[in-house]
Amino acid sequence: LHSKLPATGTTIFTVMSQLAAETGAINLSQGFPDYDCDPELTELVVSSFKAGHNQYAPMAGVMKLRERIAEKNELLYQAQYNPDSEITVTAGGTQALFSAIGSTIRPDDEVIVFEPAYDSYAPAVRLFGGVVKTFKLDPPYKIDWDNVKKAINSHTRMIILNSPNNPTGSILKQKDIDQLIRITKGTDILILSDEVYEHLIYDGEKHLSMALFPELAERSFICASFGKLLHTTGWKIGYCLAPAALMTEFRKVHQYEVFSVNTPLQHAIADYLKDEEVYLRLLGFFQEKRDFFRKLMNETKFDLLPCSGSYFQMASYKNVSNEPDFDLAMRLTRDFGVASIPESAFYSSKTDHGLLRFCFAKKQETLEKAVERLLKF
Ligand code: PMP
Ligand code: GLN
Repeated sequence: LHSKLPATGTTIFTVMSQLAAETGAINLSQGFPDYDCDPELTELVVSSFKAGHNQYAPMAGVMKLRERIAEKNELLYQAQYNPDSEITVTAGGTQALFSAIGSTIRPDDEVIVFEPAYDSYAPAVRLFGGVVKTFKLDPPYKIDWDNVKKAINSHTRMIILNSPNNPTGSILKQKDIDQLIRITKGTDILILSDEVYEHLIYDGEKHLSMALFPELAERSFICASFGKLLHTTGWKIGYCLAPAALMTEFRKVHQYEVFSVNTPLQHAIADYLKDEEVYLRLLGFFQEKRDFFRKLMNETKFDLLPCSGSYFQMASYKNVSNEPDFDLAMRLTRDFGVASIPESAFYSSKTDHGLLRFCFAKKQETLEKAVERLLKF
């Protein structure tokens, strides 16, 4: 068989979650909550089934959900996205990313990806013949925009950004945005902005969505996920925002990739989001979790990197061990009963920072139990 992705194996999230299940370890690897969503939301799902919303949704998504999404972007970012032509409901953030790449990247187009990077970007670019231009960032993961500018040439088609960042927990600051505006001005470079953790940001920092900056929004696909907002990663519903001309292209791919996504859940989410408080509640909820986990982890031998956003905490074990991070992640799962993700999984080249990523979207008692075990390391 002539593989289209010869260098790609099974995603690390599957590998580590499977190992956690096999060994009975506490799973702080793959990012998902171990608590349920709001029962009110579950009720709305049941009502939605009973109301007979059980056939295909419109290709671009149930209109009342697109309207809610438009209201949210107006409320949080003072941005106007037209529900008719600029918003599409997708099968999670993953499909939003994939369709954005699939609808714009041609063979030999160059796409700038900063590493550590979420693992779906590069394979998607390659499937469409694109060339991934990697910028390797080392902790504290700051982007050197002058270097990025130097790499831009007539083949550069897209820059992929992810803030708040998985796995680093870092966020884009205003000076990053200023540089991004500077280096893309007057070009036709697109921005693919993965903002699935937009509501998970701490210490009073503000999420700088591309939607806030008209010069960037006019060239941006913004990808979001209800999995993070509603604690429902298994529902696989998200959306993409883009100016109408880009969204027209996006939908040409979306309509043949999935056509449309789960109808009853779209109705339920739309009804739930009538309450705008949902967005605000989440802020306090995750700040508490982050603070709680960091406090517990400070008692262990791990050194914690800063975490400004997302539900991931990077922890260094350099003081304790020289093992490669993959080996240690395996050993901690098997021998200590706590699963994590090795940082090197987010790089395409050999990397050894001695860091593990822990997901803290877990019940208090899960975090306590996990850290109790990590104290023995
Ligand atoms: N982007 C990032 C950075 C992610 O961490 C994830 C996974 N949670 C996704 C995209 C995909 O989101 P979804 O689960 O909605 O497909
Ligand atoms: N985004 C989640 C993580 O980083 C996993 C999603 C997935 O398994 N594809 O852990």
